[in-house]
Amino acid sequence: MSSLFPALTDSPAERPALRFGERSLTYAELAAAAGTLAGTIRGAGRVAVWATPTLETAVGVVAALLAGVPAVPLNPKSGDSELGHIIRDSSPALVLTAPVTELPPALGDLERVDIDVRGTARNSVADSADITPESPALVVYTSGTTGPPKGAVIPRRAVATTLDALADAWQWTGDDVLVHALPLFHVHGLILGILGPLRRGGSVRHLGRFGPEGVTRELNDGATMLFGVPTMYHRLAEALPGDPALAKALGRARLLVSGSAALPVHDHERIAAATGRRVIERYGMTETLMNTSVRADGEPRAGTVGVPLPGVELRLVEEDGSAITAYDGETVGEIQVRGPNLFTGYLNRPDATAAAFTDDGWFRTGDMAVRDTDGYVRIVGRKATDLIKSGGYKIGAGEIENALLEHPAVREAAVTGEPDDDLGERVVAWIVPADPQSPPGAAELADHVATRLAPHKRPRVVHYLDALPRNDMGKIMKRALAHD
Ligand code: ATP
Ligand code: MG
Repeated sequence: MSSLFPALTDSPAERPALRFGERSLTYAELAAAAGTLAGTIRGAGRVAVWATPTLETAVGVVAALLAGVPAVPLNPKSGDSELGHIIRDSSPALVLTAPVTELPPALGDLERVDIDVRGTARNSVADSADITPESPALVVYTSGTTGPPKGAVIPRRAVATTLDALADAWQWTGDDVLVHALPLFHVHGLILGILGPLRRGGSVRHLGRFGPEGVTRELNDGATMLFGVPTMYHRLAEALPGDPALAKALGRARLLVSGSAALPVHDHERIAAATGRRVIERYGMTETLMNTSVRADGEPRAGTVGVPLPGVELRLVEEDGSAITAYDGETVGEIQVRGPNLFTGYLNRPDATAAAFTDDGWFRTGDMAVRDTDGYVRIVGRKATDLIKSGGYKIGAGEIENALLEHPAVREAAVTGEPDDDLGERVVAWIVPADPQSPPGAAELADHVATRLAPHKRPRVVHYLDALPRNDMGKIMKRALAHD
């Protein structure tokens, strides 16, 4: 197979590749470090990577890809039981880690290999000959939003095609410099945020810790793109009114991209008003990598995730199994996808893998959406947690959350359903008030929603919280809410 990273051998030696804080590597240095490590681990079954947001993690994953050894990124913030589960499930031969890092007992007596980012190899950067497009590149565990994380086996073909499809959609080239502040153990931060720029021959600057100052500094210093999750864009939206330098810097970016969860319309609009730039949303998942995106040459629209990426087949399927053929912006169906971006299956879970596919090979995403007449996909929410069946209606949590977030006294909002004798289910709102001393009343919020959307969408119950339960990607953990 042709190399995933032609730029490792083809780039001018001094071309910048990666920068984490004060530490950086050029393409020649990255090729040397990853090539050296690849020589050490070649032939291992699978390798875990202790995925701290460091240069070492990036070098470790690139080395594994060069060696043809599937990498299993581990979230350093996982608890012992989750780490223990992932280690037992993926049975890595060893764990790659930055030198000074202390590893937790959950890793047991797994052999540890320290990553040296100053490797010396000059000639072992070519991928192994026995690697094929179907060879597993990574085993990435899902975020665990709806249940225990499952290990998705991602072939090299999926990594290459999804990155190339995004390059097409975003006009993404080696001239782009990415500002990155995401963790490195999920698809977003690792495959898009690290492998993406390296496949294009561009560069990444990782902030370590996300903040408006770092974003401003890097965009003023030649960076062209920002990848973030909605909680980051929310922070930028909150900071913008008092930070004209941030507004100017964001206005200068070629591309602001959001993903991993729905970007609230309110935040999208506030950023657009203050910077003149519209955030582009893309939609994907661990199992499918990227499915849709607003295109750089398209029309960014708040609340939509754009159109299917090149090579991705996407359909909406109603409960009775029939595919929706006429898009009207209203009929809700489950998103199902097919294409070279898909994973091979869940590790050790043939049952879950089989259940995830239809008989004719479409992957059931579990996400519900409508399509506008021109094909733009609008995600309504997840089938399992975000679709409320109330009084004969099917109500998506997302639009109610968006409406609540437009209320000035609401800082954060999540909507769930709970059983109701009359309605089947009733709409429940979980609110973090902007000012805890004077939270908006339940009747006021119900009116606010009823006038914006429709009366049957108003929340019947309102709970007040100090913060919403979120995972490390800022996704709202609705399981935790429902069980409170
Ligand atoms: P688990 O599968 O373990 O329950 P998870 O689904 O959160 O967790 P991921 O694969 O990391 O794990 O996330 C994929 C999901 O994130 C998608 O199925 C979708 O629900 C959501 N998502 C991703 N991007 C977007 C987006 N732009 N808008 C709305 N939802 C999104
Ligand atoms: Mg999922």
